[in-house]
Amino acid sequence: MKTETTIQGLTASLNPARSARKIIGFVPTMGNLHQGHLNLVREAKKLCDVVVVSIFVNPIQFGPNEDFDSYPRTLEQDQQLLADVGCDIVFAPTVEQMYGNKPRLTNISVSEITNDLCGLQRPGHFDGVAVVVTKLFNIVQPNYAFFGQKDYQQLAVIRQFVKDLNIPLEVIGVPIARAEDGLALSSRNGYLSPEHRQVAPTIYQSLKAAEQQLQSGVDLDTVLANIRNTLTEVGFVIDYVEARTPELQKIHTFNQDLVLFIAAKIGQTRLIDNLLVKYTV
Ligand code: AMP
Repeated sequence: MKTETTIQGLTASLNPARSARKIIGFVPTMGNLHQGHLNLVREAKKLCDVVVVSIFVNPIQFGPNEDFDSYPRTLEQDQQLLADVGCDIVFAPTVEQMYGNKPRLTNISVSEITNDLCGLQRPGHFDGVAVVVTKLFNIVQPNYAFFGQKDYQQLAVIRQFVKDLNIPLEVIGVPIARAEDGLALSSRNGYLSPEHRQVAPTIYQSLKAAEQQLQSGVDLDTVLANIRNTLTEVGFVIDYVEARTPELQKIHTFNQDLVLFIAAKIGQTRLIDNLLVKYTV
């Protein structure tokens, strides 16, 4: 496995694969890798000849009071995990390599689906994601790109601009990887104190309870209120608890699949999770 830190180096490493028309898979990450990230790589290995994983903590997707400076950076450990799972190339550029030192004048903004959920709490976040992912797509030029369903809204935003801008690749969504107690794996779980780590699985438990309630006919507003109560009782401060259609539209009829979304803080740590609830008659 190679690690490249410059665009030139990465291009040189990928050129033989491109010339041989190999299928290139790409997994963008911010590092501090866990089994959720590694599952994306495993999926990529199934479909692709060459797998590139980027590790880049993207400054422009963090708000001024967010955790850009303290975000865990663990490159050596990440390289070991990626080598073990069969990644071919790690791309770990500096901020300067990605953004240069002259101002960037171009933005990529996806409307409607970003004016909701995390987009309301994190203004500019999805623009920052869209810009960096587009730059990475142009640098790597993959055939397939892999993203986790844990960041459901992010995945929808990426699918949208890939379609709108005719970016020539296929986006693959990968199911959420969870700890045994149900907590969705996240690099931010490392911020949790032992006490907070113990209550964190309440997020997933409340989603599963909500699924049961919905499928046994409890109305949606009551179900959402139950989630809010459960989380507040164990000490969460709620950003949002919402239901949307799988396409992120507001729910108007109840006889359809829906996705439940939670963003909530325990201590200083903001956790997100979601669950697709199938409509059953
Ligand atoms: P991040 O490093 O947090 O930016 O995540 C990089 C990619 O890994 C994104 O596509 C995430 O959706 C995905 N990811 C992170 N955590 C998980 C998880 N628990 N299960 C599945 N995918 C995940």
